[in-house]
Amino acid sequence: MSKKIAIIGGGIIGCLTAIKLKQSGFEVSVVDKHEIGKESSWAGAGILFPLMPWNYEPKVYELCKLASKFYENLSIKLYDSTGIDPEYKRTGMTLIPPYKKDDVIEWAKLQGIPFKETFFRNSESIYFPSIAQIRSPRLMRSIKLFMEKMEIKIIENMELAEIQDKEGVVKKWPTNKNSYIVADYYVITSGAWTSNLKDNYKSKIYPVRGQMIQYKASNLKIKNILYSNDFYILQRKDGVIIAGSTIEEVGFDETVTIDKKEALMRKAEALVPDLADVQVENHWAGFRPGTKQNIPFIQKDDDYENVFVNSGHFRYGLTMAPQSAEKLNEILIKSI
Ligand SMILES: Cc1cc2nc3c(=O)[nH]c(=O)nc-3n(C[C@H](O)[C@H](O)[C@H](O)COP(=O)(O)OP(=O)(O)OC[C@H]3O[C@@H](n4cnc5c(N)ncnc54)[C@H](O)[C@@H]3O)c2cc1C
Repeated sequence: MSKKIAIIGGGIIGCLTAIKLKQSGFEVSVVDKHEIGKESSWAGAGILFPLMPWNYEPKVYELCKLASKFYENLSIKLYDSTGIDPEYKRTGMTLIPPYKKDDVIEWAKLQGIPFKETFFRNSESIYFPSIAQIRSPRLMRSIKLFMEKMEIKIIENMELAEIQDKEGVVKKWPTNKNSYIVADYYVITSGAWTSNLKDNYKSKIYPVRGQMIQYKASNLKIKNILYSNDFYILQRKDGVIIAGSTIEEVGFDETVTIDKKEALMRKAEALVPDLADVQVENHWAGFRPGTKQNIPFIQKDDDYENVFVNSGHFRYGLTMAPQSAEKLNEILIKSI
């Protein structure tokens, strides 16, 4: 009989980890305190690239580099199987000043990433044709259906509490409804909420709010992702344009604020002045699982033999999810 694994948290990290472990032959359940895929993974812009890899430790890009190809293939499978198109598209990205040109070009050459020096409204800029985007809410909706078809059990509106077992093996994991989730192995993929389950992640993984705005579809066309000074704009298939995002350490305060909305609009209109005539129709926030260097924890837990962690992907969890799932699967299989 196959061993049972409970995945705690059904964001993109939990879902891709669940799919990978199911493919490895385990019996897998995903438990979420609300609905699958409705937190940070829903809020994300879906750019499949770590915006400034040349500024990060190499490990960040290592975890990101296979994402685009992975999602290109996955999107085809998801569309075929669920009828929901996650809208993967290699739109390319234009990097607009300020940036350190020599650092960027040296990094791109070293990594073999195609690029072209060009102009964006009279500013020298660099175009990366291979960078892709995906529409996060559609991706998460289709993944949920796909998991159900794969016979991954989904348990929603079930919040897990702190572990009660004192010894090195968790026999049953308590929920906040006076019940237990029982499995052979547990994987914590609870994103920004990870330290609520195990307080050794306190101050290591913490919520970082990101606000985004969405402009109504209009005649305006933005062919590729525009990125400048930690701000981006991109267009979806149906013409809506999204812009973001803020980086705010305000705990779990999910309020969206007028001042940030206006600041995002000012930045968007500075890049694309015609946006001043388009209505902002949506404004939302999500909690990134923040970590100091954008480097997640993908490991066996320090205290319990049958508990694993895949959390803390901060700004690039959608991009890092495929490699992180691969890595967690490898670690889990090696250690049992
Ligand atoms: C505005 C914004 C823009 C972004 N843009 C991008 C981008 O363009 N590209 C990119 O790669 N990344 C982007 N990100 C980052 C990316 O969205 C996150 O890194 C990623 O979604 C993290 O995934 P996750 O599965 O760890 O977390 P989440 O998606 O937050 O999932 C965690 C899940 O765990 C559940 N949970 C928590 N505690 C419990 C518990 N006790 N019991 C049961 N369930 C629990 C939650 O309900 C939630 O569903 C962006 C994020 C934001 C906010």
